[in-house]
Amino acid sequence: MPPASIESRALGAYLGLALGDALGATVEFMMPREIQAEYGVHSQIRGGGWLHLKPGQVTDDTTMALALGQALLSAGALDATAMAEAFSDWLRAKPVDVGHTVRRGIVHYRNTGHTQMPYSDNDAGNGACMRVLPVALATLEADTAFVRHACQVQAHITHHHALSDAACETVSLMVQASLRGLNDINTLLGMAQKLVALHPEFNFRRRRSDNPSGYIVHTLQTVFQGLFDTESFEQCLIEVVNRGGDADTTGAIAGMIAGAFYGLEGIPGAWLKKLDPRIRAEIERQTPALLMLNLQSAELYPASQDTD
Ligand code: MN
Ligand code: MN
Repeated sequence: MPPASIESRALGAYLGLALGDALGATVEFMMPREIQAEYGVHSQIRGGGWLHLKPGQVTDDTTMALALGQALLSAGALDATAMAEAFSDWLRAKPVDVGHTVRRGIVHYRNTGHTQMPYSDNDAGNGACMRVLPVALATLEADTAFVRHACQVQAHITHHHALSDAACETVSLMVQASLRGLNDINTLLGMAQKLVALHPEFNFRRRRSDNPSGYIVHTLQTVFQGLFDTESFEQCLIEVVNRGGDADTTGAIAGMIAGAFYGLEGIPGAWLKKLDPRIRAEIERQTPALLMLNLQSAELYPASQDTD
C-alpha cells in the first residue's frame, strides 16, 4: 500500500468513525451468537437495528463528533462554552439516540452554565471517547499536555472520570501518530500497552471481549483486540462489530483509529457509497478545516501571550 497523506488519513479517520457507527448500529445490543444466526458475519452497511436506521444512517457517535467539530471551527479555539452550546443544540434537534450520561451532562450545563461535570465514578461510559476525533485533528501539532487538556475540556462537559479521560487521550494520540505517517501497527500497540500500564483495567489480553458494554474499559478492550488481531480497516471493523454489545460505538472508535492508520485508501468503496451523503459531505468539509485550525498551547492564553 502506498503511503497515505495526512489529509487522506484524517479523512479515513472521520469517515471511519461514521462507517463504524453505521455498520455497528445494525447489531447494537445483540449477542455475537444472535448476530451469527441473523447475518452469518455482519459485513454490509444495511441499516436496521433497534433504532430502525436507513442503510448508511449514523447515530449519536457521529453526530456528536460533527457538533464538536463545528464548535471548534466556529469558535476557532478550544472554547468549552461553544462546545456545550453545540451539544445542547444537538440534543434539541432530537438525535436518533442519546446516552444517559450525555443527556445528564447537557441538562447540567443548561441548568448551571457549568461546562464541567463534577467528578463521578458513574461517568466511565464511552460517550466522551466516541466523539473525541475532531479534537485530535485540531491539535495534531500540539504537545501531549495540550492534547490531554483539550480532550478533557470536551469530555468533562458530560463525562468526568479518569478512565474516560485516559481513553480519550490514548485514542487521540493513536490517531495523531497514525496521521503523522505511521506504518508499523506495533507503535499503536505500544500506546495501548502504555494505557494498560497506567490503568490495568484496560488489559485486553485476558479474555475475548464479546458483547462489550458502554463502559469505556469494555469498549476499548474490544477495539484493541479488533485493531491488533486484524490486518485491514475492513477486517478490523467487521471483527469489532460482530462482537455485538455497544457495537456502533466500538465500531466508531475502531473506525477512527483504523481509518487514520490505513487511510482513506483502505476503506471499502462499497461502504463509502452507502454512507449518508450529507454526513459524508459534512465530514469532507470539516476535516481539512480542523487540520488547519492547528490549536496549540497558546490558545489557552490568547491575550497574555501577545507581547507585541
Ligand atoms: Mn450510537
Ligand atoms: Mn453505542
